[in-house]
Order: sequence, then structure tokens, then C-alpha cells
Amino acid sequence: MSTSTSVKHRGLIIRVAIPSPLRRLFDYLPPSDSEQTIYPGVRVRVPFGNREVVGLAVECVNQSNLETGRLKAISAVLDVEPLFTPALFRTLLWGASYYQHPVGEVIHSALPGRLRLGKSYKTARIIWRVTGEHTEERVTALGRAKKQRALLELIENSGELADSEVEASGFSRSILNQLRDKQLIEKHWVAVADQGFFPAIDESGLQAPTLNNDQQAAFQSIARRLDEFSCFLLDGVTGSGKTEVYMQVMQRQLARGRQCLVLVPEIGLTPQTVTRFKKRFACPLVVLHSGLTDADRVAAWNQARNGSAAIIIGTRSAIFTPLANPGLIVVDEEHDASFKQQDGFRYSARDLAVMRGREEGVPVILGSATPSLESLHNCSTDKFDHLILSERAGNAVFTSMELVDISQGTLDSGFSEQLLYKMEQHLNARNQVLVFINRRGFAPVLSCTTCGWLAECDKCIAQLTVHTKPPGLRCHHCGTSRKLLSGCPICKSRDLATFGVGTQKIEEFLKSRFPSCPVIRIDRDSTRSRVRFEAMLEQINKGDSCLMLGTQMLAKGHHFPNITLVVVLDADAGLFSADFRGQEHMAQTIIQVAGRAGRAERAGEVYIQSRHAGHAVLQSLVRGSYAEFAQLLLMERQSAAMPPFQHLALLRAEAKELQPALAFLNRVGAHAGTLCAKQNLAIDRVGPVPAPMEKRAGRYRVQLQLKSPSRGMLQEFLSHLCVQIESMNQPAGLRWSIDVDPQDLI
Ligand code: ADP
Ligand code: ZN
Ligand code: ZN
Repeated sequence: MSTSTSVKHRGLIIRVAIPSPLRRLFDYLPPSDSEQTIYPGVRVRVPFGNREVVGLAVECVNQSNLETGRLKAISAVLDVEPLFTPALFRTLLWGASYYQHPVGEVIHSALPGRLRLGKSYKTARIIWRVTGEHTEERVTALGRAKKQRALLELIENSGELADSEVEASGFSRSILNQLRDKQLIEKHWVAVADQGFFPAIDESGLQAPTLNNDQQAAFQSIARRLDEFSCFLLDGVTGSGKTEVYMQVMQRQLARGRQCLVLVPEIGLTPQTVTRFKKRFACPLVVLHSGLTDADRVAAWNQARNGSAAIIIGTRSAIFTPLANPGLIVVDEEHDASFKQQDGFRYSARDLAVMRGREEGVPVILGSATPSLESLHNCSTDKFDHLILSERAGNAVFTSMELVDISQGTLDSGFSEQLLYKMEQHLNARNQVLVFINRRGFAPVLSCTTCGWLAECDKCIAQLTVHTKPPGLRCHHCGTSRKLLSGCPICKSRDLATFGVGTQKIEEFLKSRFPSCPVIRIDRDSTRSRVRFEAMLEQINKGDSCLMLGTQMLAKGHHFPNITLVVVLDADAGLFSADFRGQEHMAQTIIQVAGRAGRAERAGEVYIQSRHAGHAVLQSLVRGSYAEFAQLLLMERQSAAMPPFQHLALLRAEAKELQPALAFLNRVGAHAGTLCAKQNLAIDRVGPVPAPMEKRAGRYRVQLQLKSPSRGMLQEFLSHLCVQIESMNQPAGLRWSIDVDPQDLI
């Protein structure tokens, strides 16, 4: 006799994505006591192990591989309609499979925090309207209650008043309640979708400059394809008018009532950017970034989702914002490394933007003065349309670039005599000078001159950086800090010396060298306080002569029109970096920093110090152009069989000891070998080997590099391999991850 539990379940099964490290969906029965329909995309609360979790219904199927008796029921359905639009939902599912990441975690990271926790998401809002039977007598009965009369009048004249706007309109809750009690007004629930799309903008009143020829050509190419997906690389130096092109395309779409999503790098999201859009377009604009409170994030997310926000500006994770009626996606500074998430769901917001544009059927513009090699390659294979702006817009003057050979001669705190002389000239002419150095702190090395001891982090294989403000030794990799020592811990000698220079040491040097000139240091340490940072920017924007020195932070977003001299103190770190993108990043940073110079009427000069001034890569950057330089690097990548010519994935394992991590990846490597042989896949495997940064934050790191000329083949291989890894025995305390299209191999 067969029992019902011995057959596999047939009937309605809901497959749910749950935040768990397992790369699969979980089957559930519909809730036992609810008639509510479950659509793919709604949140559900389900029993999972011995707890309850919030998951997302992904699909409804007829059959489960589990037996009925083992299937549990959904405990609650949390939404009446899907949270993600269909195109976004498809993009997320694609992202989970492309980046080989558990789909539950992908969906989780795409939701604002409070929705992840299962808090209710209002798809309706409250408004107030005057009651049907409201008569003259009742109004007269209000007598001299002036406030009540005024509120009633406001609601009557505008037809309705949102509950959330009562206070903002200058009325208290008690005034409102009195009108309600007198039955002059009544409460209504309106579905959020009925809130209405933002009103299409009126183009006639807009003040936009006439585009120059390059801009016009770029604009026309995009404007011809406003209703379909295509990807455009807008390639032009800083100041060539890329933002103006974005804005004119946005204008077209906003005039048709379609929303525009603009992604900017983490550091590029300045009030300047937002102000510029606001000044041009009088339409609802929302900003999404990591500094928002969760309530604000949900509010902005909601406005984007219901179509009442016209422009959505945000950093990396804003690519997950649902859009009711999208018309355009822009990724500004598309080469920027901050678009790649470096832990958890390791996605590239730029690459997801392209996939999202395809799913939504809207154009995507990637803009940069220094496009990534990936995007340039996509142009040469005709996947992207290459639009070039070759001149600076307006009347800005072009910048000249020169190398300063420092292989001979001595340096004074990192500066050659030639450079100091140049700086003096520019400061004497009352101009602004910018010094770029990619190292914060005082000095990167503290060492004992007697026995050779080096101050090292005990949690990382790395040296500690000396800081003077506040004093201490700090590890830039794990954040550990220690007291500054006055003697050597090994030989007790008092002769400790610092080597190399960081921003703080240079600040000290510049202050004593140019005592009459203000020195402004801009790095992560000096700008922790937003107020202080804005004060610094204000001082710079006043235009008085000053010396600025700073790190990467200077390279993005901000415009400093009065700078006439830019000094790059040391180009060599990037030239010989262990990272395969080191040279690309070095050139991008130098050009971005140089782009700060000469934006106004004054011509700018850029000087780059190097001990290898004859190096072909530096020469092509300085004598030629970024385009020429990029071609050279692309040829090198091709002969080294590296991205974008080959596709990379990195399997990482970390543990408290080196051995278990290495042993684990060795077993993975063996599986990988068998898999390749069995399925005849051409996957190149390197490792496992300890990572270049072998120990970080107390954990040893090992990596296995996987490479293939075919993206599809690599994808197929990885999805099989992940299933096998999940079923392997994992030593306690070991963590493993997979990084598809890694930013670096460090
Ligand atoms: P990018 O985004 O490439 O750095 P912007 O769009 O910010 O360049 O343009 C640089 C400056 O030139 C801005 O002040 C902008 O207002 C101005 N500008 C851009 N295009 C034009 C144009 N066609 N005519 C006049 N000024 C322009
Ligand atoms: Zn010593
Ligand atoms: Zn450390």
C-alpha cells in the first residue's frame, strides 16, 4: 500500500530564494490558511532550519523533487504585488547566475534594509478629500476657526492633500482631526501606483547651450535610438562636455515622461553633480547612496518604483532601483573601480547596467575621459558604439604633460629641484598648485637603523604606516592601529627612522618650504568630517593662491578651475604593480588628476616624476594620448592572454592557517581538472597559490585562477564547479568565494 508521502509532490509549489550560501532555490507549499495569490517577486516569510526567514518567491511550479511530507508551507505572504519590475527581476536572476552567487543573497542585496527584514512595504498611501455632502452650513458652523477654514479651503482647492504633507503645509494634526470629526473631510487610501508618473517636462523653457559638432554628432547617434537598447561609450576628456550630452538626451526622455537613472562613482557623488541636474530640470530627483538612512532609502526607492521620481542618481547599488517607466541609463566615469563590489555579491554595476538596459529596452551611455580597456574592446568588436568628443567644450585651455626624470639627482621629501622651482613660479603668479600622491599617512615604513627591524602588522603581511595626525602606526589593509614606538622592540636602539613619504610628511615639508602659502591636505584622514571637507572645497573655490595635496580623492568629481599646475609625485608604483590592471589604473588616475587643471581660462601644466621616464607606457601616455596608450596596453593584454581577450574568474579561500586553505583549493583544482577532461572544456588553471597579499586581517589567503577565451564556456564550467564545491567537506573556519571578472588579483 502506498502512502501519499512516498510520491513526489504534485500541485502548486513555490520556489523561494532565501539568503543562504547555497546556490539554489527552496521549495514550499502555499500558505495553508490564505487565499492570497502568490506572484513571482513577492516577499514571503518561511520556516528555514529552526528559524523563520524572509525570502522572495521566484517561480511557481507543478512538481517538487522533495516528498510532500518534507515540504513546509509558507508562513506569510508579505506583499500584494512583486517588488521588482519584470526587467529588473530578470537582470537580478541573470546576475546571480553570471556571478555564480546564491540568488537569495543577490535579491537580498538589491533590497533596501527594512524590506529585507520583512517590514511592510506600503503600496498605498493616505490622502484627504472633502466629503461629498459637505454643505455651506457646515462651513459656516466653523465660525471663526481660521486655521480649520484655511485647511478646508486648501483641500477643496487642490482636490486632495497627502497625509504626509499636512504638517509641511503648515497645519497641525489636531486641526485636521477637527475637520474630520465635523465630517468635512475624509480619509482615502490610494494605491501608490495611482500616485501618478511625474509630469513630463516642458522643453521650451530649458536653458541649454548649443552643442558643438562632436557633441551634436554624439547626441544624434543616441537620439536616433531612444526606444531600444544600445550601448554607447561617450569618450572625451574632462571638460569636453559629456555631462552636457547626458543632459540633452535626458531632456528628450524626460519630455516623454521617461525616467533617467544616473550612476556615479562613490566619490563622484558630490553636491555639485546633483545641483547641476536640479538647475537644468525642474522635476523630481532622488539620490541613492550609502549615507542615507533606511527610511530615506525606502522613500527614494519607492518614488523610483512608482514612477513619481524623474531622475535617480546614485552610486553602485542604485543599479538595483526599480523603475516604472525607464528611458535611459547613464554610467558616469565608467572605468571607476568603485563600480565593482569587492565582497559578498561581487557584481560590476557597469556591466549590470548594460544587461539592465538590454532587459528594459533602453539606451545605456557609459561616459569616461579614460575608458576601461573592456569598454574600448567592446567598441572595437562593435558591441558598443564609440562616440568621441575630441575637444574641450567652452573656452578651457588644453593641458600639457611632461615627465620629470628622477633616476639621478637627489630628492627633497620626494620633490626634485626642477619641480620645486616650477611650483614656486606658479605660486608667485598667485595660482593654485595641486600635488598628487597616492599614499596617505606620514611615511610607509618605520625601521630600526641599527638592526634593520621593520614595523609590520601582526594580522597582515604588510608594513605599518606611520601617522602623525593623530600619532600612531596603522595598517591600511585591516585598520589595526598601534602606539608609535620610541625605540626598537628587538635591539632597544633609539635610532628609528621613517622611509618613503605620505601625505602628512609632504604637508609638513610644503608648509616649511612655502611658509606664506596655505597648504590644504585632502585624503581619507583629513576629510572624515563632511563639514570640514566642504570648508576645504570652499576655500579652494574662492580661487586664492594655495597648495593642495591629496590622494585619489582629488581625481574625481570635483572641479578646481584655478589650478594651473598639477604635480604627480611618483608614477612608478603603478608602473610596476603586482596587479594586472596597475598600469591602466595609474594612467586613468594621472589623466583624471590632470583634468583638474586648466579648466578655466588659464592654461594648465602637468609634471609627472618617475625613475623610469623612458618606459614605453609612460612615454605613450605623455607624448601621445590616452587612446594610444590604451592600444598599447590592449596589445600587451592580448599577448599575455588576459582580459578583455580572455575571461577570468578567481576562486579564493581564506583561513586562520595557510595549509587548510591551500589543501581545500587543491581539492577544488583536482575537481576542476576532472570536469575539464570529462566535458572537454578549455579552461586554463593557475594555482592554487598564496595571494600576493598572503595574509590580511589575520587570515591567510589562497587563490585559484580560472581563465578561458570563451565566456560561455567559463560560465558553464563555473556553475558545475560551484555545485561540486558546495558538496565538498569544508574545514571549520574556512571561507571561500568566487569572483567573476575580478578587479585585481591581489
Ligand atoms: P565633462 O562632463 O566632459 O567633464 P561638462 O559637460 O561638464 O564636461 O562640460 C564642461 C564645461 O563646459 C561645463 O561648464 C559646461 O557647462 C560647459 N559646456 C559643455 N558643453 C557646452 C557647449 N556646447 N557650449 C558651451 N558650454 C558648454
Ligand atoms: Zn633594532
Ligand atoms: Zn593589517
